[in-house]
Amino acid sequence: MKPIQMVDLGSQYLEIKDAIDHKIQEILQSSRFIGGPEVQGLQQELEAYLGVKHVIPCANGTDALQIAMMALGLKPGDEVITASFTYVATAEVIALLGLTPVLVDVDPETFCLDPQQVEAAITPKTKAIVPVHLFGQCAPMKEIMQIANEHELFVIEDTAQAIGADYLYENGTSQKAGTIGHIGCTSFFPSKNLGCYGDGGAIFTNDDILAEKLRIIANHGQTAQYYHDFVGVNSRLDAIQAAVLRCKLPHLDTYNKKRLSVAKQYNEAFAKTDKLRTPSTAGYTSHVFHQYTLQLAGVDRNALKAYLAEHQIPGMIYYPVPLHQQKAYRDARYPDGHFPVSENLAATVFSLPISPNLTEEQQAYSIKHVMAFVG
Ligand SMILES: *Cc1c(COP(=O)(O)O)cnc(C)c1O
Repeated sequence: MKPIQMVDLGSQYLEIKDAIDHKIQEILQSSRFIGGPEVQGLQQELEAYLGVKHVIPCANGTDALQIAMMALGLKPGDEVITASFTYVATAEVIALLGLTPVLVDVDPETFCLDPQQVEAAITPKTKAIVPVHLFGQCAPMKEIMQIANEHELFVIEDTAQAIGADYLYENGTSQKAGTIGHIGCTSFFPSKNLGCYGDGGAIFTNDDILAEKLRIIANHGQTAQYYHDFVGVNSRLDAIQAAVLRCKLPHLDTYNKKRLSVAKQYNEAFAKTDKLRTPSTAGYTSHVFHQYTLQLAGVDRNALKAYLAEHQIPGMIYYPVPLHQQKAYRDARYPDGHFPVSENLAATVFSLPISPNLTEEQQAYSIKHVMAFVG
């Protein structure tokens, strides 16, 4: 059996090696390393795949969030509401721009923003809401958009973990994650569901004026060559990364389906014990399982991790510390105990290997050892 990895990028590469190697050779020979037809092509193909009017490629997902907040004209003192249980990037750009983060707890079932708590956190200074589609399912966008419209707030979706997921409306229509809010932000970090071979990111919007502003800010605030009308940043996607993403995009739905079937196998196996709470999917969203995250009930997490490691099975804790308990983001408004769901998740979550290339044999082996440990 091949060694198990959290994400098996090597096996995925071998499946598309010819196309990737050919493209990279072509780019080396063309010497068009930044911008050019690959980046343009990716932009158009992503627009078509997502059903969104504008895709603005950039250097990474964190930049995407920062550029989005800059393009919306958010100013120091403006409040931005986001989840207390998530990756650090959102809080980081809020802090860098001198904005005020307003954290709210997440829903214990979906690990995503709880709309009622979002509404309760709104003040006259609130300018934007940043829902994170954590682990691969959508936050409750219909409710979040309703709240945003009522209070005239911007919504920036962080869809770094949910590219390809569908938000499902009652009338049978759907929209892709990241295309519902005013702006959507994603990351193409190698381990994401659509990952390149370095850093990469993109911003989505259906608003023509915002799209223009986002493009300008991502390129040094430049409106014409060497004319800078805005303070911007340097955030480019390079041609090699764009080419890799163009090779993978046609397979994204297949990759996501494979992740879903891995998740279903895990769910079935772990339903047999009440010591493992399997992840639930809300009725309004598909799930692309960026992570397969269990909640442990009466299981020693460190001992489980060590036991699995002894059997060459990796396991990860996404995330061990909620934002309000991170040293860099400690805030008197949010003492320990303030966000009980986030704190409980941080103490009990445990993520198992999941990727399109996890084999049945590898998965059966992992399940066997997890079940042996929990008894
Ligand atoms: C990965 C990730 C980001 C940041 O993306 P980078 O490309 O690493 O900057 C932001 N938000 C979430 C939820 C992520 O998972």
